[in-house]
Amino acid sequence: MTGERVLVVEDNDRNLKLVRAVLEHAGFDVSSAGTAEEALDIAVERTPDLILMDLQLPGMDGFAGLAALRTQPATLAVPVVALTALAMPHDRERVRMAGFDGYLEKPISVRDLPSQVHAAITRGRRSS
Ligand code: MN
Repeated sequence: MTGERVLVVEDNDRNLKLVRAVLEHAGFDVSSAGTAEEALDIAVERTPDLILMDLQLPGMDGFAGLAALRTQPATLAVPVVALTALAMPHDRERVRMAGFDGYLEKPISVRDLPSQVHAAITRGRRSS
C-alpha cells in the first residue's frame, strides 16, 4: 500500500498531525487541508485516490464539501470517507445518505487506519 494519494481534511491540528503521521508511516502520499474550501482546490489539482473528510469544519462543513466535490468533473469519482466524532445510529445514517463512501469514527485507530484507508481506496466509489 505505497504511494496511494490521500487528502486529509481536518481543522483540528492534533488530529491532522496524527492522521498524517500514521498514513505517511504506512507509505501513503498525504496532503492536507484545514477547510473544505481549501480541500476543493487541492482535490482538483491532485485528484487524490481518497479523501478523508472531517464533518465539522469551519465555514463549509464536510457534508457541503462532499456535495461540492461531486459537482466537479475532476473530483466526481474520488471516494470520500467521513471522519466523524458522531456515533449515533442516526448520524451514521445521515453520513450514508449524504453519499459518503464510508466513515471512520474519531478517535481513529492508529493500528487500523492504514488498512481501513487502503480498503476504502480498493472499494472505490459506492455503486449505488
Ligand atoms: Mn473538526
